Amino acid sequence: MIKDILCEKFGKDRVLENEPMSRHTTFKIGGNADIFISVQNEDELKFITEKCFENNTEYFVMGNGSNLLVRDKGFRGVIAEVCRGFSDIEINDDMIRCKSGAFLSSAANEAMKKGLSGLEFVSGIPGTIGGGTAMNAGAYGGELKDVITKVKVLNDGRIIELENKDCGFEYRNSRIMKENMTVLEVEMKLKRGNSDEIKAKMNEYNKARSDKQPLNMPSAGSTFKRPEGHFAGKLIMDAGLRGYCIGGAAVSEKHCGFVVNKGGATAEDVIKLIEYIQKNVMDKFGVKLETEVKIIGE
Ligand SMILES: Cc1cc2nc3c(=O)[nH]c(=O)nc-3n(C[C@H](O)[C@H](O)[C@H](O)COP(=O)(O)OP(=O)(O)OC[C@H]3O[C@@H](n4cnc5c(N)ncnc54)[C@H](O)[C@@H]3O)c2cc1C
Repeated sequence: MIKDILCEKFGKDRVLENEPMSRHTTFKIGGNADIFISVQNEDELKFITEKCFENNTEYFVMGNGSNLLVRDKGFRGVIAEVCRGFSDIEINDDMIRCKSGAFLSSAANEAMKKGLSGLEFVSGIPGTIGGGTAMNAGAYGGELKDVITKVKVLNDGRIIELENKDCGFEYRNSRIMKENMTVLEVEMKLKRGNSDEIKAKMNEYNKARSDKQPLNMPSAGSTFKRPEGHFAGKLIMDAGLRGYCIGGAAVSEKHCGFVVNKGGATAEDVIKLIEYIQKNVMDKFGVKLETEVKIIGE
């Protein structure tokens, strides 16, 4: 049994059984993962994925859970969290190398301290380098693909290095995501700048975020991708759905592109609300809204 194999390798204390995913997602929603383990290094991750494969067990790699909705009946298999324990950041000249569990905000801060510009736009995104790279996270006109030079990934049990051009970056998507690779480490090339100016830019972006986004409520950020030629939030507002609720899930009053958890929302509430929004926006404006948030589990 996979549980016994993982307990023997990592000790019982680290292998959490029936772990509520509401504890590990910014939505604060989600049923139990059969097994949840916080990974500390590459070898551990390799071991877990190999053993899951050999034992025919589903596994899922997550970062900070800031773009994740786990359905109410939970996840049958192993969730490996690549976050706090796997987060070194190294800066050499104008290059920054981050382990995938490093927070985007930490990478931006470390770069700022060394007078390196290019990561200001991620300073307020509450995810990891790994999740951000797989998602090609972006904001304020920047995307991670603009600064990434190389990505070290685990692919079918092998560790390989991909050049930027091989990562298949798209708007909030990548080959890494599509082919289920796991990001281990990311190298980025930044530009020389002035720490004070970089800090001022980060403050400006973060002020814009707190002015416009419902940061005081649990959410997974923008629920939908930006449809070509439109803004999801505006379409949802124009469809008359500002504040619309299903159970504990609501369209944010502050930013209609965010579905928020008002308290006690289930994943089913959120999914029903997403479908309701999609149907209304399609009926009223003929625009298909695709989810940005990743939905897993049963
Ligand atoms: C308040 C708020 C504001 C946000 N603002 C923005 C924004 O401005 N721009 C933006 O792009 N996003 C934004 N987001 C969404 C989210 O923070 C980003 O998508 C972030 O990059 C997700 O990182 P994560 O570590 O939390 O990933 P998770 O949510 O844990 O996972 C998301 C996806 O990435 C995959 N993944 C995670 N780690 C790895 C890894 N090591 N290797 C391979 N795949 C991995 C998961 O399998 C999953 O499919 C926001 C979210 C919130 C809550």
